[in-house]
Amino acid sequence: MKRIFLLVLLWVSVVLSVYANAKSADSIDAEFEAFKKTASAQDMYTFLYAMPKGGDLHNHSTGSNLSQWWFEEILQQEKNGYTYYTKVKINNCKPYGTNEFGRAPYLMLFVNIQEFEYKKLASCEQSEYKRIQDLTPVEKAAWMNSIRLDKVSEGRDEFFQTHWARINSLMANPYMQANLIVKNMQAFGAEGLSYLETDAGVRGFVHPDGSPFDTEKVYQLYLNRFAQQDALETGVTVRLQYSLLRFAPNAEDSLQWMYEFVATHPELYVGVDMVGREDNEKGHPARFLPTLRELRHKFHGVNLSIHAGESDEPNQHIRDTLVLGADRIGHGINLVDDHDTLLLMRHNKYLIEINLISNLLLEYVEDYSQHPFPEYLRLGIPVALSTDDRGMWDSNMTDEYFTAVTNFNLSWQELVKLGENSLSYSFLDDKTKNKLLENYHQRVADFAARFKAKKIQGFKHIKPQSYSFACKQFKVCTN
Ligand SMILES: [Zn+2]
Repeated sequence: MKRIFLLVLLWVSVVLSVYANAKSADSIDAEFEAFKKTASAQDMYTFLYAMPKGGDLHNHSTGSNLSQWWFEEILQQEKNGYTYYTKVKINNCKPYGTNEFGRAPYLMLFVNIQEFEYKKLASCEQSEYKRIQDLTPVEKAAWMNSIRLDKVSEGRDEFFQTHWARINSLMANPYMQANLIVKNMQAFGAEGLSYLETDAGVRGFVHPDGSPFDTEKVYQLYLNRFAQQDALETGVTVRLQYSLLRFAPNAEDSLQWMYEFVATHPELYVGVDMVGREDNEKGHPARFLPTLRELRHKFHGVNLSIHAGESDEPNQHIRDTLVLGADRIGHGINLVDDHDTLLLMRHNKYLIEINLISNLLLEYVEDYSQHPFPEYLRLGIPVALSTDDRGMWDSNMTDEYFTAVTNFNLSWQELVKLGENSLSYSFLDDKTKNKLLENYHQRVADFAARFKAKKIQGFKHIKPQSYSFACKQFKVCTN
């Protein structure tokens, strides 16, 4: 009898707790719907900044660095022996006929070089450059704007053709690379993220005298840097992908090298990505099928997350990318035009990494009424929000959520699902993934309870860090 009584008691308590949880979820949904109707832009921004947001799965480590971070870090690098120069004027040192459409055109301001490169220049060209620490305030402001899309007229061509050419030499210092990833971890941690999956390589790095860095040394340097106290304090777990510039002539050789490197360095590396504009037909996905098939015969444990469908015309790149073996698709904008693949992806296990701000600024959509994100979300295609090259948009993850909520009327459940997807579809090992998911759900529950009890007043102590994108677009400015 006593046992039956205890069983009944247990049953009642389970029912009550399920009811309480359901009621609490209902009530948060309703609270959030009400909040959306009345919240000021600043309050909505504070809410979304404070809200736990899982991870960023589509992030390019160099494109993610804000201009001011580059500037600070360049100055810091003097202690490691690196000095940088930037081109502040053009003295017509070169004759006609230089390659103005190559990767390093002469007629471009604010190209950055290291001291060993500067020393190789003829004196006429040297006179065009200045050490970055010697820039006047006006030059510094122009330098900062030279690596972000700060004007309406700047779009895809500015991004693909000038930004990367300007920062090329800045990307060759492994200390700076590792420190800037930590700066990203700090900023993402402050806005409620717990995971960052970014791309960073180990090849092409040089010492201050221009001699190459050993790849294993770069790998160790990353491991050591991410184990330091300031990195651990961010609360952000970091993993790396290796990215391949897909249209390069020797891309197959590079893919073979990086695939083996990722397979043999699983402590930090979890996958391979393919990047580069898709309107360059030399980088179409099917090109890599024979190479990947060969590699799968030899190696295990390499995940693929590949840019596909970042295009403003219909094609079958997403289908072909799934055939390559990708589990995640970067962008996926033109999936709406490929119905068979869209049907395949509904309620399936392939995630699309959505980059709302990138797609707008690089003109893949004219405005958000054209963006397929809500279609994917509400058709049951797994999606997560990500930041792509946020340094060049001068924005953050909160801006992506703010854009999504204000343009597509997201529900509380949808917000939570986006964060959950960004961890569930990460390339983390199961144990770490489950730990982060558990932590995420706990933080979401705490956040919801606080919001329910105190409304937005519960988060007034949090001062969101926003940048020029939010200031211009949402009128949410950090002084
Ligand atoms: Zn990208």
